[in-house]
Amino acid sequence: MDIELSQALARVQPSATLAVTQKASELKAQGIDVISLGAGEPDFDTPEHVKQAAIDAIRAGKTKYTAVDGLPELKEAICGKFKRENQLEYVPSQISVAPGGKPILFNALIATLNPGDEVLIPAPYWVSYPEMVRLCGGEPKTIPADIQTGFKIKPEALDAAITPQTKWFIFNSPSNPTGAGYTAEEIRELAEVLLRHPHVWVMTDDMYEHIAYDGFRFATMAEVEPNLKDRTLTTNGVSKAFAMTGWRIGYAGGPAKLITAMRKVMSQTTSNATSISQWAAVGALTGPMDFVEERNAAFKRRRDLVLADINASAGLSAPVPEGAFYIFADCGPWIGKTSAKGNSLKDDVGVCAALLEEEAVAAVPGAAFGGSPGFRISYATSDEALIEAGKRIRRFAEGLE
Ligand code: PLP
Repeated sequence: MDIELSQALARVQPSATLAVTQKASELKAQGIDVISLGAGEPDFDTPEHVKQAAIDAIRAGKTKYTAVDGLPELKEAICGKFKRENQLEYVPSQISVAPGGKPILFNALIATLNPGDEVLIPAPYWVSYPEMVRLCGGEPKTIPADIQTGFKIKPEALDAAITPQTKWFIFNSPSNPTGAGYTAEEIRELAEVLLRHPHVWVMTDDMYEHIAYDGFRFATMAEVEPNLKDRTLTTNGVSKAFAMTGWRIGYAGGPAKLITAMRKVMSQTTSNATSISQWAAVGALTGPMDFVEERNAAFKRRRDLVLADINASAGLSAPVPEGAFYIFADCGPWIGKTSAKGNSLKDDVGVCAALLEEEAVAAVPGAAFGGSPGFRISYATSDEALIEAGKRIRRFAEGLE
């Protein structure tokens, strides 16, 4: 007899971004020259000084269990980072370290959500937010934003979405999947609304803080409005800025009661994040940051390459993203058309399937992000691959009828 799966799991969709990457790898294995624009990780290497901190930790035998929610040295380094870069004063008892940004968000949700609790999520959203909320027994409620507002929500929309059941507002800037970054002024407008609703907690996801362009100045909610700090969990991690996706370190600063509850979750599930990775993260958060500027220059060049091709493809449009390494293209005018090879494009899932089949370009459909009709392109790949992908997308657009 087959094993019966839990009702909690039945509420959850598997990650669509991982599915696209998987499909692209399968085609590659068959010898097809697929350009994968699906991945959500920098193609750069982890900086040398970070690797060295990990090597030193191994050699020094720092390979045992650590405190469940983070080494004291790492918590100190995180407090230093929050103070230096975000003007936020946290003490170590207000810091949590987990095996990635994903578990940080999950631990906070599982520690706080009860059946019927609602979580507000601006859409297009990062694929995991609604699924994690469902897994934890809560109800995701999306606040749609479209291309006209650069995929950013307006304060009136936030206000209208809040109900007595609202527990959290999840706020991700710069955003995966749109790259939209909110200015301090735009965050202030949202904060004004939140101040009027004291029962709503704020979970910021600042994972892309350091990946920003054209002088965009990152700001986070608790920094912009200190009166919200007592009900804000400021989450971040080393995965993207330091190209450390495989090391698995995420962290958060927030009220001690919440941090303690998250520690309780970890104590009975994962225990600590890898000791060696934690030492690497100490190296990352206390070391030089000059490589960030260099890498951002490369990302910006790639962003502009892709934007030019999107804008040159009839029927596609995208706002200029302030940060992250994604472009979210609106493909509304393509829906209902037929491709050169006879695929009828019913929705964005069909668009991405046809792009993959006909032009061997893998992008993720907007449906995965609550952002139909559109698709996400990750430009964290080589210039050559992006130039070729751009040609193929334009050719696909020209073939539509
Ligand atoms: N938050 C956002 C917006 C992301 O895009 C990602 C990764 O794709 C994460 C969190 C999770 O990061 P980690 O790999 O550290 O779990």
